[in-house]
Amino acid sequence: MRLSKAFIPTLKETPADAEIPSHQLMIRAGLIRQLAAGIYSDLPFGWKIVRKTMQIVREEMDRIGGQELYMPVMNPIEVWEETGRATGFGDEMFRLKDRKGRSMCLAPTHEEIICDLARTFIRSYRDLPQIWYQFQTKMRDEPRPRSGVLRGRQFIMKDAYSLDVDQEGLDKSYNLHAEAYKRAFDRCGLDYFIVGASSGLMGGTGSQEFMVESPHGEDRVALCGSCDYAANLEVAASRPYPISDPDAPDDSSEPERVSTPDMRTIDEVSGFLKVTPERLIKTLVVMNENGKPAMALLAGDDDLEESKLTTALGGTFRPAHPEEIKELFGCEAGFLGPVNAPKMSVIADNRIKGGRDRITGANEDHYHISGVNIDQHFKPDKWADLRTIKEGEGCPVCKGKLRVSHAIEIGHIFKLGTKYSSAMGANILNPAGRETPIVMGSYGIGIARIIACAIELNHDEDGIIWTKTLTPYDVELIGLNLNKEEICKRADDLYEMLQSDGFNTLYDDRGLRPGFKFKDADLLGIPCHIVISSKSLESGGVEVKTRATGDRSIVKIDELLTVLRGYHE
Ligand code: ATP
Ligand code: MG
Repeated sequence: MRLSKAFIPTLKETPADAEIPSHQLMIRAGLIRQLAAGIYSDLPFGWKIVRKTMQIVREEMDRIGGQELYMPVMNPIEVWEETGRATGFGDEMFRLKDRKGRSMCLAPTHEEIICDLARTFIRSYRDLPQIWYQFQTKMRDEPRPRSGVLRGRQFIMKDAYSLDVDQEGLDKSYNLHAEAYKRAFDRCGLDYFIVGASSGLMGGTGSQEFMVESPHGEDRVALCGSCDYAANLEVAASRPYPISDPDAPDDSSEPERVSTPDMRTIDEVSGFLKVTPERLIKTLVVMNENGKPAMALLAGDDDLEESKLTTALGGTFRPAHPEEIKELFGCEAGFLGPVNAPKMSVIADNRIKGGRDRITGANEDHYHISGVNIDQHFKPDKWADLRTIKEGEGCPVCKGKLRVSHAIEIGHIFKLGTKYSSAMGANILNPAGRETPIVMGSYGIGIARIIACAIELNHDEDGIIWTKTLTPYDVELIGLNLNKEEICKRADDLYEMLQSDGFNTLYDDRGLRPGFKFKDADLLGIPCHIVISSKSLESGGVEVKTRATGDRSIVKIDELLTVLRGYHE
């Protein structure tokens, strides 16, 4: 491709509204152009990279026996009503009506459509296993589209679905996908790790995420410094460490009401009563999906991990509003506690189990109570892990310490089980002749996230540095002094030679200053640059530059192909 004819709109300045390097560089190198919040056009240079990435993923999916299909973006809402996700997705789902007034939606994922195909065509255990996948435009009205293509409202996902007779079959299909994902991400040159993850609203029995560590990631992960324990903070555990109860009263003592005027926060109350924050019980009141209140209890120095409470409650929740709290408890949120509380489900974090001589709110403005023994003065309905892991806590597996870091999720694999197949009647006759729901898995990769992560991991202050597998061109040929006919002819001939020898070449044949061309070449990030100029020819050939290292050397033109072949091995 001649740059003089190419549509690659590069920018010298960093766009003001792009905060993270991948977003800035994708705009500056002319890969994408935003049309609306979270909605982008892929321009020719960027689309080439998208296609290469998709091809790598496609080859790895085909290798595990995946069969590519293509399902509709626009779906009748009824299919989504069958599983409850028409409401479950809430505002994240784009909805519209057709001309006949029929309710439609733009699919945020495709489990429902897969189940519809399966219940129509799959009848017997003999038809299984199956792996079906697609590359498809997903539409999600994300609440905070940002960081460029990392969180778009329209994005290409490779989504795959496995259909099996039983759990054992699912385990096999799941492992196949894990292997395919590893191979695909390795080929894309990404440095990633795998974490145990929350299944969230998807349901199911287990899930793992493929993560790239990055300060710009929205996910937080706990990583052990000594073993390979790694988990999303949504589910991460740490080695239990107890709360010391120095002067625990005996069982016969009764809790004591203590005045705590205007002391609402954990810090205020612990400072006022001169006790460590861990001795306080933090009381949070939430409303579940059905508008019912529930209480979550944690040690005063711990923070709630919302996903863990979602799992414990079996559905989403929101914090109760101050008016709701006032109505239920007759006091402000700063003075709540589980003793003599109105009737509601109480879930307590494992770390406060067996606690004695604790302090909680008295459910009365400006009062707390001390000397509270758990299980004696109140009894939680359920124990669960609810707390957020903190930097430096012990690893739950080995003697090491946990580090908390940020990461970008590039892929997610789920053991769905029978949640969707049961809801939609996607059944088969098993070998015993009994009708059973198909056991499903679901597996997603964000194509644009792979590309953005590749840039996050491989760039410098001058621009992008593509890996050999993702680069849209093999080499960039930069012609200088092209106003001299002789040089222009040599450069054109070289371009023809490279192309005919199978090197996909971007040829900067523009009549621009050398400095401008070099800057553009560094920005675009093709791994190998070849400069042909009067000076290089005088020195005996062309100058070959490696973009990643900046190393340069003069190579004779008749040796160039050999050098390049070595380069691309
Ligand atoms: P997140 O937690 O980041 O919102 P998710 O759990 O909603 O992701 P899945 O539904 O599992 O994501 O989708 C599978 C893959 O699709 C993700 O691993 C990610 O790579 C990609 N993906 C999800 N949402 C987006 C988005 N808004 N923009 C770009 N890629 C996305
Ligand atoms: Mg999401």
